[in-house]
Amino acid sequence: MGASAQSIENKTLLVTGGSRGIGRATAIAAAKRGWRVAVNYVGDEAAAREVVGAIRSDGGEAVALKGDVSIEADVLAMFEGASKVGTLRGVVVNAGVVAETARLTDMSAERMRRVFDINVLGSYLTAREAARRLSTRLGGPGGAIVVVSSAAARLGSPNLYVDYAGSKAALDILVKGLSVELGTEGVRVNGVRPGIIVTDIHASGGAPERAQALGVTSPMGRPGQPEEVGAAIAWLLSEEASYVTGAILDVSGGR
Ligand code: NAP
Repeated sequence: MGASAQSIENKTLLVTGGSRGIGRATAIAAAKRGWRVAVNYVGDEAAAREVVGAIRSDGGEAVALKGDVSIEADVLAMFEGASKVGTLRGVVVNAGVVAETARLTDMSAERMRRVFDINVLGSYLTAREAARRLSTRLGGPGGAIVVVSSAAARLGSPNLYVDYAGSKAALDILVKGLSVELGTEGVRVNGVRPGIIVTDIHASGGAPERAQALGVTSPMGRPGQPEEVGAAIAWLLSEEASYVTGAILDVSGGR
């Protein structure tokens, strides 16, 4: 469906961590499908503005919303901001971090707390607010939630970051439970498990070359691009996936 057809109903999508990487690609893919997009970021305002600019220059509508998903007040403010853009009908729970590559024996409590705060608490808070606003039981219009997990949730990420892998496994089971809670309330809840995708996240874990080095070991012999994940998420959000809920789609090149 073209942008003009859907913008009549002001159908709005919130993407947490929409300023870079997979979130950015998702925001742009969704805008091409007619969504108005609220692009959340935490620190990189220039990146968020770039995404908003790219969507607007393509004829779409977007705003940038600053907020840390691990802080409840920020999450509430983010949803308030998104609801001003139009009718919230979709939420992509995407914001996530890794810490430096390490074995569990070398991980500090502070490091693990940060990973769990952002990836688990942040995602659960975001999903909770999405459910509160979308559920028809609570007066909402219905919609779709997509949670960005990771192949790490299946593989455990030994010698890299088992804390991160555990945080993502918590998201897989969130998809399962929340999809059942909302099954008859007009809200579909699905997840994607990206494999090795070329984004900045690898540099933030101290290994900028990891995407290439590990990507070539996957069955498809290459890392994935953020657009390849964004397209899968945009499909899960769409009416084309109208009977898909509680599903977790591996977008991992066979990994
Ligand atoms: P990225 O390029 O590092 O981008 C991370 C995004 O999350 C940025 O937009 C960042 O905002 C935002 N963010 C970080 N902490 C936040 C917080 N506390 N509150 C709000 N936003 C926050 O990462 P990516 O690779 O696209 O990863 C996106 C998601 O995909 C993550 O959940 C990640 O675990 C998952 N994933 C990635 C891969 C991969 O290989 N890349 C594989 C599997 C799963 P700023 O721009 O403001 O910093």
